Amino acid sequence: MSRFDIADFQKKLDERRTEGNYRTCPVISSRTGTVIETGGRSYLNFSSNDYLGMAASEELAGAWCRGTEIWKGGSGASPLVTGLTGAHRSLESFIADFLGVEAAVLFSSGFAANQAVIKTFCRPGTFIYADRLSHASLQEAAVLSGAELRRFTHNDPDSLKRFLEKGGKGLIVTEGVFSMDGDEAPLAEILSLADRYGIPVFLDDAHGFGVHGTGGRGTVSVQGFRHGDFDLVTGTFGKAYGTGGAFVAGNRVLIEYMVNFAREYIYSTHMPPAQAYATEFSMRYVAEHEELRNRLRCNVEHFRSAMAQTGYLLGESHHSIQPLILGSSEKAVSMSSFLKSRGIFAGAIRPPTVPKNTARIRFTITSAHTGDDIEFLVESLKEAEKLL
Ligand SMILES: *Cc1c(COP(=O)(O)O)cnc(C)c1O
Repeated sequence: MSRFDIADFQKKLDERRTEGNYRTCPVISSRTGTVIETGGRSYLNFSSNDYLGMAASEELAGAWCRGTEIWKGGSGASPLVTGLTGAHRSLESFIADFLGVEAAVLFSSGFAANQAVIKTFCRPGTFIYADRLSHASLQEAAVLSGAELRRFTHNDPDSLKRFLEKGGKGLIVTEGVFSMDGDEAPLAEILSLADRYGIPVFLDDAHGFGVHGTGGRGTVSVQGFRHGDFDLVTGTFGKAYGTGGAFVAGNRVLIEYMVNFAREYIYSTHMPPAQAYATEFSMRYVAEHEELRNRLRCNVEHFRSAMAQTGYLLGESHHSIQPLILGSSEKAVSMSSFLKSRGIFAGAIRPPTVPKNTARIRFTITSAHTGDDIEFLVESLKEAEKLL
């Protein structure tokens, strides 16, 4: 018995099921860097954002333990009350120094950080010029901000320019590395349009940090720019850094403005201090261990050259993210099930996460995979080519 209209919700769930887009969460009962156990079976994991194998590493676990020895459990309050500890402040300073910008502020997730930036700096009567493939967190916030959302064609500076010509004041929003395709934004062109039209740029480099650039400074670094060339930059800790949470970095006034006005910051318990402590450890470790990035690059190129010997076509990505676009949800689901039967976990990504008819398997190759892991994946895909 419920006071909600359960039948209506059930109907929508049934529609999802009919479309082949119904989703459930697999429960992971144990894991190592590359192997997960779920439903009583173990699988080689090609579906994690733990690009550098940090999340399951002993080194990070050790740092997290030291953090809990010092700070114990949660932060106990929102940051403006008493939730901001020395561990949080130390991480903020590290990030600002590491990126060469004035200041940084922490959020409990990348989703919250993006919502905060958009809702704090965009208001009715202004424009948000966002890449069409921007993350859901950005699109969602754009609607809530009341600003006019203009979605330019993916990675197309000409399309952005047309919107800027017709629009007004606002914010350009793009990502360093796009989460579903692994391709990079054309930062030079975007910055030059931003200068020409006097519109600030907000860059979400959730997938670039740790993976790309000197010391893992991200897409900005790999494309030869400085973070100070952008107005605001965000990154998450839940991907290459293997913890959780996120930061926004940039000009000190803008960061102080967020601390005073961003509701996601003010009305939310700060991340546990041990998490901030472990995250700083991870960022330093990842910066110092260039071999993690070298190993990742080798693994990605290994996968791509082995795939070139098959009939499959991969996108242009040289990132961990390697999408194999199959079209219909059914095809993606049957491929994912086939791989599962071979002991490989690689989830089907379906609409509405990706556009219609671009359902895919989004493989993520990490630095923790071995050459044998990658060979086994490609051999299994060859088998699927014959069978499906
Ligand atoms: C994952 C992701 C986020 C969200 O970050 P979380 O910390 O997982 O909430 C934001 N932006 C992009 C581009 C992402 O890929």
